[in-house]
Amino acid sequence: MIILTKQQYDSIVAHAQKHAPLEACGLIAGRSRHETGPSGDTEIRTVEKVYLLTNTDASAEHFSMDPNEQFAAVKDMRSRGIGLLGNFHSHPATPSRPSEEDKRLAYDTSASYLILSLAGEEPVLNSFRIDGDKNVTKEELTIL
Ligand SMILES: [Zn+2]
Repeated sequence: MIILTKQQYDSIVAHAQKHAPLEACGLIAGRSRHETGPSGDTEIRTVEKVYLLTNTDASAEHFSMDPNEQFAAVKDMRSRGIGLLGNFHSHPATPSRPSEEDKRLAYDTSASYLILSLAGEEPVLNSFRIDGDKNVTKEELTIL
């Protein structure tokens, strides 16, 4: 499960809307803990910081994060004592699920891949995990 605040969610939506029709992207960082309950072990990922980055591809169909901004974000995470949880990008005109290209480029099996769709009336945000065989699993996402 991944938990975002309403403020963090709003900042992702605003970033995506500002750059539409191009894709927007960024990194998410925070803390992860495990809870053992009757149904087994659950990982709870709490987002503490969202980094809004530049899509250097300036494309409506794919994205690359600015390497200097990524470096600065990772440095900032270290200084805050938080870890990288994953990333997000927007789909200005397509649904909130990984494209074939997204799957191809997903190499981090421990990352949460958040995709914000602006295709409908209301923005739709989902989080996914992508394993080594490119199997996509939806991750439970909570906005507080
Ligand atoms: Zn995508």
